[in-house]
Amino acid sequence: MTEERQAVEQYALEHWADFKEYLEHPSISAQNTGIQETSDYLVRTFRELGAKNVEKWDDQGGNPVVFAEFKGQSDRTVLFYNHYDVQPPEPLTEWQSDPFKPTVKGNHLVARGVCDDKGELMVRLGVVKFFNEHGGLPVNLKFFVEGEEETGSQHVEKYVDAHQDQLKADACIWEGGGKNSADHFEVVAGVRGIVSFDVHVKTAEADVHSSLASYVPNAAWRLVEGLASLRNPKTGRITVHGFYDDITPLSSAKEEAVQKMDFAEAEVKKTYGLKQPLVTSHPREEVVNGTTLTINGLSAGYEGTGVKTIVPKEATAKLDCRLAPNQDPEDIMTKLRRQLSENGYDDFEVQLNVAEDAWRTPMDNEFVQTALQTARVVYGPTTKYVPNTAGGGPVRPFGELLKLPVIMVGVHYAKSGPHAPNEHLRLSDYAEGSYFLVKLLTDLAVDD
Ligand SMILES: [Zn+2]
Repeated sequence: MTEERQAVEQYALEHWADFKEYLEHPSISAQNTGIQETSDYLVRTFRELGAKNVEKWDDQGGNPVVFAEFKGQSDRTVLFYNHYDVQPPEPLTEWQSDPFKPTVKGNHLVARGVCDDKGELMVRLGVVKFFNEHGGLPVNLKFFVEGEEETGSQHVEKYVDAHQDQLKADACIWEGGGKNSADHFEVVAGVRGIVSFDVHVKTAEADVHSSLASYVPNAAWRLVEGLASLRNPKTGRITVHGFYDDITPLSSAKEEAVQKMDFAEAEVKKTYGLKQPLVTSHPREEVVNGTTLTINGLSAGYEGTGVKTIVPKEATAKLDCRLAPNQDPEDIMTKLRRQLSENGYDDFEVQLNVAEDAWRTPMDNEFVQTALQTARVVYGPTTKYVPNTAGGGPVRPFGELLKLPVIMVGVHYAKSGPHAPNEHLRLSDYAEGSYFLVKLLTDLAVDD
């Protein structure tokens, strides 16, 4: 280990607790608690760290966004996206320590939100503090910290749009990232999109005695038949006309990177206790550049104990589609609606819940390449490039409006348990990730 690395890692471990209060605020957006206190804490902390400007934005509605900027030695500017809200801690009985009392257990730092994503911001704040005491920041830094990521980031695009000038930068580092199930560090350059919606069908004004099923239509059957008409049961292909049309094939360089992604089939099967084979023989490609139509939940008729012989009057399903870059959520909804009605189900009511676009930064982007090089030095040759995560996030406004390359790097590992009880980080990852960030910011300044 180099002397510099040792110094940074030791500094990170000695100073994480300087920001411990951040983990103690129960900033739960879904329950609207702790939002003011936590955003106030951030304003105060950014000021204490010497930010040249700190603002709390509330001009676009929703929970406030905390914005801060720091002056560095080069002209380059890196913008960090983070969120200060966390998931509710329930079920509380499954926590081994108080979710809002950060607790160290061996190498683990345990607290609600420490992985998703307060710990990631703590690393970033610690790095600012380190540079303050060791010659100053190599590049300018900006922070955009929102407070409603866990409830769908509904105002982010508005804030980015309204504050484009202040958010000007050269590159953006997303909320977090880290190591995969093989414990290999990943540099991720995008997200998939999502569209989530409810489908509702009503076939009568009241539930009907099931003896009359001889002639009365059944909403539950109608719903499952309608949904089944959207998919080929043999191949799993979605049979919505034009559904796959906008997916762009991966470039050969990306395809090669995807082939090298870690995917341990046996481990996946064990982790989830899968009772059926995987639904594809190309899981790597599917998770990066594929699309899905998933039934999240179904409800109809009597679901209690014992017997209740009825024909249900209505039935509802919740579904989502994960979308590849270039697939437009609105367009997918239009195609789904059209197909349902072509298949004879024009009485289905389809209601959109959440729509978010995919985004991917090109692999040959200079920032992506610098991050990969730095990661290979810090984390070794097993470092993986991943074109985009399987999941989503409000990345597109940063990529499209601000024209920034966006990467996701951070300090999670596969068992960090975001959203779950006993959410934690490994302190060794916290230290290593602090060094990676120090080195990346330094390398970005040198590249200038
Ligand atoms: Zn998050």
